[in-house]
Amino acid sequence: MTNPDCLFCKFVNAQLPVSLVGQNSGAIAFNDINPKAPTHILVIPKIHVKNLAELSVHSAELQSVMLLIDEIAKSKQLANGYRVVFNTGAAAGQSVFHAHAHVLGGRSMQWPPG
Ligand code: AMP
Ligand code: ZN
Repeated sequence: MTNPDCLFCKFVNAQLPVSLVGQNSGAIAFNDINPKAPTHILVIPKIHVKNLAELSVHSAELQSVMLLIDEIAKSKQLANGYRVVFNTGAAAGQSVFHAHAHVLGGRSMQWPPG
């Protein structure tokens, strides 16, 4: 499952360079190009699904994403707290329609988010 027009699929397929910060069988992680926190990493499934709802029926890839998030939180020493965000839909701020988790940490967070 890949989409030739999708930026994130090009990262998965090594058609475009990306600085990986981690990967496992079903997911990759890389630094966000426009970080909103000292640590801002995107974790994406290797399959092309447009959002969390589509990802949720692919249990292996969903688990790969969640396990990689946990691994990153530990390796980046985010034990004091971190935030995981899946923007879902344009009104929620989604701009890349290949499901991705934002992992944000290294600063205090406000609640509710804007
Ligand atoms: P969203 O707005 O939730 O869809 O998140 C998309 C994220 O992808 C944004 O935080 C962007 O900064 C990030 N992004 C876009 N292009 C790139 C890129 N070439 N490399 C890394 N991150 C990117
Ligand atoms: Zn894609």
